[in-house]
Amino acid sequence: MARPSIEVAAHAGVCYGVERALDLAYGAAQSAPKPVRTLGPLIHNPIVVDELAEGGIAPVDELDGATSGSVIIRAHGVVPSVIDDAKRRGLHVIDATCPYVKRVHRAAEKLVREGYQLIVVGESGHPEVEGIMGHADDTAVTVSCVDDLASVELQRRVGVVVQTTQTVATLTDIVDELLIRSDEVRVINTICSATQERQEAASDLAARVDVMVVIGGKNSGNTRRLVEICRERCDRTYHIEDAAELSPTMFSGAMHIGVTAGASTPASHIQRAVLAIDSLTGACA
Ligand code: SF4
Repeated sequence: MARPSIEVAAHAGVCYGVERALDLAYGAAQSAPKPVRTLGPLIHNPIVVDELAEGGIAPVDELDGATSGSVIIRAHGVVPSVIDDAKRRGLHVIDATCPYVKRVHRAAEKLVREGYQLIVVGESGHPEVEGIMGHADDTAVTVSCVDDLASVELQRRVGVVVQTTQTVATLTDIVDELLIRSDEVRVINTICSATQERQEAASDLAARVDVMVVIGGKNSGNTRRLVEICRERCDRTYHIEDAAELSPTMFSGAMHIGVTAGASTPASHIQRAVLAIDSLTGACA
């Protein structure tokens, strides 16, 4: 009987912004004033967050938890007042906000400056979205889907920016509705290409395999979106955080197994999962 094969998506795993944040954190562990804290978990990957804590870089929920030393701002970014507050408290600030998230901040500020009512397409309450809203005025609203627009009093001129991990399909649905209800709609598409690339590669692979494994934090928005996208193409899609969650029954009868991973998943975790699938199924990568 032929051996099953394992294929990793063409774009999968840790993105530029997360890699940069991790590099800054590991660099801070060497040279920044101690103790080094991250404001919230550095990335949405509990395994990596535990590894960082073991290296002396623990998360704190609030600035009150970092009374001295350094504080790292996550790739998601924060509202500007948080950085000002940290500096006022005498903390050494290491800003690991992803440059692509900073681009959303600048786009939001520009649209507000030009007099548009800002619509942020994204997940309400998500730290990245809260950070973006911190760069807007009090007429700004967050919407995650067309239905959210029903209760929004729209102005004549609306400007749109997008949480970096959203899909083009969600953005398009919302913009279509805005075009019906507003006189002028200015859209700055701030979806990150890393997200698009991972979503397209995952969708392409999920359509061709019997089983799809998505690796990444259960609390990671971009990983959960990859899971949704894969499930549309492949019923047998599993979301795992760690290779230890894999079992032989997941792969029974499968001849072609796909693997992808969210933007917070290091290459070593993908490699671990591939090796585990290989040993559970006798597959070849
Ligand atoms: S997904 Fe894109 S915007 Fe988000 S951290 Fe990664 S590179 Fe930056």
